[in-house]
Amino acid sequence: MGVQPVRGTRDLLGEDQRRHAHVVATARRVAGLYGFDEWQTPIFEDTTVFARSLGETSDVVTKEMYTFADRGGDSVTLRPEGTAGICRALVSNGLTQSLPQKVFYAGPMFRYERPQKGRYRQFHQIGMELIGPAEPLADAEVIACGHTILTTLGVAGNVTLELNTLGDAASRAAYRAALVTHFTAARDALSDDSRMRLEKNPLRILDSKDAGDREIVAAAPTIAPFLTPQAQEFWDGLRRALDLFAVPFIENPRIVRGLDYYSHTAFEFVTDALGAQGTVLAGGRYDGLVADMGGPPTPAVGWAAGIDRLALLLADVPAPARPVAVVPLGDAAQAAAIGVLSALRAHGLRAEMAYRGNLKKRLERANRIGAKFAVILGEAELARGVAQVKDLDSGTQTDVALHAVTAFCA
Ligand code: ATP
Ligand code: MG
Repeated sequence: MGVQPVRGTRDLLGEDQRRHAHVVATARRVAGLYGFDEWQTPIFEDTTVFARSLGETSDVVTKEMYTFADRGGDSVTLRPEGTAGICRALVSNGLTQSLPQKVFYAGPMFRYERPQKGRYRQFHQIGMELIGPAEPLADAEVIACGHTILTTLGVAGNVTLELNTLGDAASRAAYRAALVTHFTAARDALSDDSRMRLEKNPLRILDSKDAGDREIVAAAPTIAPFLTPQAQEFWDGLRRALDLFAVPFIENPRIVRGLDYYSHTAFEFVTDALGAQGTVLAGGRYDGLVADMGGPPTPAVGWAAGIDRLALLLADVPAPARPVAVVPLGDAAQAAAIGVLSALRAHGLRAEMAYRGNLKKRLERANRIGAKFAVILGEAELARGVAQVKDLDSGTQTDVALHAVTAFCA
């Protein structure tokens, strides 16, 4: 038996990697148009960076983290998400007084979950954080950027934006009390997980994936009547701004998100094209997180998207350009061929040369790699200062002066 990758991890080769790279390159470019700069933070952090900020009752912290003691005995965790590390970096780098910070990131994340289509133990996210502004316009703009990325990738048509508000702390306290009353009445019918959440964080029950819980959740009160005037104003402002950015959405009062750090805005872009793994991009406002990392109270809003899921939704990715195959015949021609190869590449053309083989073998290989042209360099042609350029689609062969080969193939 050969060596296999660890369960829940995958090799990305060929077309799979091209899809991933296309998602990242597109997102990076669009985020740049919105004024975001890329940050890269470490793949592992001190365990406290995640344990505190994500919420002690969140699924990620209770069941999914890759946490281990390193050889020095320190507890470290492979990052399960990007936001906590970005906020830690903001504080570590003394940037809490240099706001706003507009951050884009991309990279692998790690969660110990049951692997299935669109759900892996090492998966990949793109994400953005807008740190500093407290206005709902900021929430609308990061959502609009996410929407533009989905549109540019060509997947927006399959995806719906579901939007909710979690209000401010006062709204949530009042709402929480109403939820405790509601769920306590149905306590015996709740799943074990949700009974535990009832004590610690009843809002989280709204996010339960347990089939039995779903019915009780469906009958639960919504936050709308508990919103303070300020929270209501924020919610109205967000929806107005989204209209101005022309981002369509539906309201879903059940969206709470899986992590503890959200306030006001919570949203998910969802699709029914991926079975149970329907959320492709999700986020919200997290005004308390920077303070959790030891910084001053700092408003912030952001989202993360699953690259693996977006890659599954993509229709087609641009194929790599067709190469030019350089075909030397004989030792003297080989030296000239290297000059031609370099010239083609310097001109931005993809060019390849095999290291051995007769004309027939080399032309077979040129066809196999999908070459558009074969540049054939024989001793007789070289003596005349020309190459024969064969169009491999039409079969036409043309004598081209060596200095003109690059222009001919471009
Ligand atoms: P889910 O409900 O699917 O478990 P989540 O709420 O745990 O998602 P977030 O923490 O909000 O997900 O992460 C943002 C996005 O990252 C998700 O919407 C999804 O696209 C992607 N994602 C999360 N976990 C995984 C995973 N294990 N494998 C692949 N993609 C993932
Ligand atoms: Mg999850």
